[in-house]
Amino acid sequence: MKLKISYYGDPILRKKAKPIEEVTDELRKLAEDMLVTMDENNGIGLAAPQVGRGIRLFILRNYEELEDGQIRLTEPQAFINPKITLVGEETQVDTEGCLSIPGIRAEVVRPLKIVVEATDLDGRKFTEEVEGYKARVILHENDHINGVLFIDRLDPKERKALEPDLRAIKKKYHTKD
Ligand SMILES: [Zn+2]
Repeated sequence: MKLKISYYGDPILRKKAKPIEEVTDELRKLAEDMLVTMDENNGIGLAAPQVGRGIRLFILRNYEELEDGQIRLTEPQAFINPKITLVGEETQVDTEGCLSIPGIRAEVVRPLKIVVEATDLDGRKFTEEVEGYKARVILHENDHINGVLFIDRLDPKERKALEPDLRAIKKKYHTKD
């Protein structure tokens, strides 16, 4: 089932999400619905607050790089109560967008390598060392469950230049009746 996306200006996107106490069928169903929602919106990652749930869960799709440099999305992965336990010093710059902030894209500096610990949908804990684009997606989604958006990570000048577009998104999705 496709879920409704929470757009920029929705207070849920600014709240710190709550830890998940138990991996239930209900949670698995939510993750499944989030996957449908993400795929239908051509996203590569989606966090629970983006569908109106203030809990520490995000999903993403893994990918493989083809010989011609194109990226093909592969199996999905869920992260429950994730913790970034190690952040490398080296950084990377790449363009990001967000399903909750439609139409806006910007270059964001992120660590190149991280270690993430989380629980999967079977309730098993796992630790993964990640680098490159997947690390970027994880950090972007992890920000969401802490109430942080990628536009917060831009330098103030660049952020200011986006203000008119951000106001337009707020107006479009949150105009009072
Ligand atoms: Zn996002």
